[in-house]
Amino acid sequence: MSKDVPLPANLPEQISQKIKAGGTIRRIVVDRAKCIGANSCVAVAPGVFQLDAENLAYVTDPDSTDDDTIMMAAQSCPVLAVLLYDENGDKIFPAE
Ligand code: SF4
Repeated sequence: MSKDVPLPANLPEQISQKIKAGGTIRRIVVDRAKCIGANSCVAVAPGVFQLDAENLAYVTDPDSTDDDTIMMAAQSCPVLAVLLYDENGDKIFPAE
């Protein structure tokens, strides 16, 4: 049973986001104002991230891969535009 995943405080304004069904990472957010279309997140986790017609990343299927791969995708972003949150709405990555 999955409980509600609270909305984090201080989310950026222009985002694409999805809730994961399980694991440590429960909310995946792309800050689309920060994204520069570098494509690294898509290269690492193509099932989770895709680029739209504007060359900005959005979240597709959050459950298509494991937490480690999603973390690697977030770490690969040169502008840290991929934000990861846990089941309490606390930020896992990037560190403040
Ligand atoms: S790696 Fe970062 S900058 Fe590149 S597409 Fe993904 S979110 Fe955008």
